[in-house]
Amino acid sequence: MQPRDLSDHIAYEAGRGIEEVARELGRDPSEFVKLASNENPHGPSPAAAVAIRETASSVSSYPKAAHADLTAAIADRWDVTDEQVWLANGGDGALDYLHRAMIEPGDAVLVPDPGFAYYGMSSRYHHGDVREYELSKADDFAQDADTVLEYYDGDRDRIVFLTSPHNPSGSTIPLGEVERLADETSDETLLVVDEAYGEFADRDSALALIEGRDGFEARDDIAVLRTFSKAYGLAGVRLGYAVVPEAWADAYARVNTPFAASEIACRAGLAAIDDAEHVERTVETARDSRAYMREHIDAHVWESEGNFVLVEVGDAAAVAEAMQERGVIVRDCSSFGLPGCIRITCGTEDETERAVETLNEVLAELD
Ligand code: PMP
Repeated sequence: MQPRDLSDHIAYEAGRGIEEVARELGRDPSEFVKLASNENPHGPSPAAAVAIRETASSVSSYPKAAHADLTAAIADRWDVTDEQVWLANGGDGALDYLHRAMIEPGDAVLVPDPGFAYYGMSSRYHHGDVREYELSKADDFAQDADTVLEYYDGDRDRIVFLTSPHNPSGSTIPLGEVERLADETSDETLLVVDEAYGEFADRDSALALIEGRDGFEARDDIAVLRTFSKAYGLAGVRLGYAVVPEAWADAYARVNTPFAASEIACRAGLAAIDDAEHVERTVETARDSRAYMREHIDAHVWESEGNFVLVEVGDAAAVAEAMQERGVIVRDCSSFGLPGCIRITCGTEDETERAVETLNEVLAELD
């Protein structure tokens, strides 16, 4: 007996942790810094850490109350109804729910190339065909409506994924272009605007388009994805959500996994939402770090609005390996369909300086 044929599914490359790398190289974990997964260098909000500890004694109960409280807090934050907030096991879980809600076998989804691998993976799990639109490296991965429309295939494309800021380049798409794309695509096509890195960008959320704010008309063909993994520093508890149009009122109950987010995750999320200072500090660190990297790295660094930068290095596998050997773990972007580039997460000042120094040494050596 075998599982169904999954041979066309790509495996998720989550990147390796410090412990794993140190063990493999026979070194002490304290020698390493990991700037490979766009995690928060300041960790979680201290209030969230307290909430996690305090939740320990109540985890024998199902997470219903905290789930409802967090949903209400998120709805309050964005000024939407509770029914519009689809809590999930990370942004990845919210992507699964959107596919469950939208995809019938034979439907297609349109995803960016290069781009975040889980869009395509989740689509395949849900029997969707994956089609790609190209973001051009020569054009600095610029995102606009025309770039997507060139590849768009009408009603068959049930979901179009936009990533703003885009992983791994850091480019963004103006809201006016999202609106134009929504206008020019079928009413049967959902645009998912993935704002996993939204806090780090100097841009308004695409929520304005769903809700009809800031001069936009309200619409029911856009959903926005958000996560607690990045700016909130809670990647380990797995907490994210989609904000969907108001017209979808009862759909969540039909697609969600029961108790979609754990009690620990919900309590941590509630505390983190209240700690605006921690998010501000995190965003400021990321801005300083990416500016420093753009200024000091001896190679092309793309302008980024995320908590990471993309760097053109030539032999990315060799560069990433040599950096790792020197204790700095970064991401080789081959897995994003972008050979020749590495992605470096914004760290603290010390971590950033160390990454830049290490990369410049490696580039000089491999030259
Ligand atoms: N979207 C993008 C663009 C991402 O880079 C990530 C995480 N790397 C996610 C969504 C999902 O993040 P999570 O499941 O941790 O919320």
